[in-house]
Amino acid sequence: MLALRRPFAATSRRLAARRLSSAPPAGAGATATDLPSRADVVVVGGGSIGASVLYHLQQLGLDAVLLERDLLTSGTTWHSAGMLWRLRPSDADIELHAYSRSQLLALEEQTGEACWDQNGGLFIACNAERLAEYERLAETGRYFGVESAVLAPSEIESVHPLVATGDVYAALHSPGDGTIDPTGVVNAYAKAARALGARVFEHEAVVGVETERTEGLVGAGGGGASRGG
Ligand SMILES: Cc1cc2nc3c(=O)[nH]c(=O)nc-3n(C[C@H](O)[C@H](O)[C@H](O)COP(=O)(O)OP(=O)(O)OC[C@H]3O[C@@H](n4cnc5c(N)ncnc54)[C@H](O)[C@@H]3O)c2cc1C
Repeated sequence: MLALRRPFAATSRRLAARRLSSAPPAGAGATATDLPSRADVVVVGGGSIGASVLYHLQQLGLDAVLLERDLLTSGTTWHSAGMLWRLRPSDADIELHAYSRSQLLALEEQTGEACWDQNGGLFIACNAERLAEYERLAETGRYFGVESAVLAPSEIESVHPLVATGDVYAALHSPGDGTIDPTGVVNAYAKAARALGARVFEHEAVVGVETERTEGLVGAGGGGASRGG
């Protein structure tokens, strides 16, 4: 159990973050006056990691609260290109990416928030050695059910007409992969978590932790977390 105590100082980045995010916050409606006095777990930071952790913990039956010092998705997540390719060199990596993809599809269905664009992945090889590496990725992927095909340069144009194929040897095409909308996925996770009873508070920076009263704290403050609030 974690006790929550005011004040959670607001930060000077608030206005800048508001300019960055055009989407309405998924936590809209919860205000500082609603801050609970206790929670099973407090997640610090409302980026892609924090929002996902919040959802998964709440789904496990815990009473989870997320505190974000600015607006949801105003950290590194906002800058992300969001590419998701499941053809990876390790089995753990492949399974993690496959799980993420299945979550994105389920979240879209569940929340109506657009967060996934299945535009496929192309691994371009300019020589035989690079293609051999990609063929190894394809073989491992096949074991995990990730569909892919090696394309000749002329076939690449039919998948992506803007690729200049003059010096291209071949490519590996993975049609089931795609791009994540970083803002969309955070909003979708927050919406799904709130539907399960989780609470999301924006403009609530965590400025310290009382360790003797703390059992469930997840730090998801991204790269700047060590700087505290
Ligand atoms: C240019 C770029 C391109 C990228 N492309 C990809 C890609 O294609 N695919 C991919 O998978 N990854 C990509 N990444 C990486 C990915 O964006 C990050 O790994 C991911 O967004 C990290 O999420 P996070 O939730 O850990 O951190 P963040 O998104 O930074 O979230 C941390 C949050 O914590 C909040 N916070 C911090 N301290 C406190 C505090 N004390 N109290 C309350 N809140 C606090 C911050 O305001 C912030 O909102 C890219 C990153 C960049 C920069």
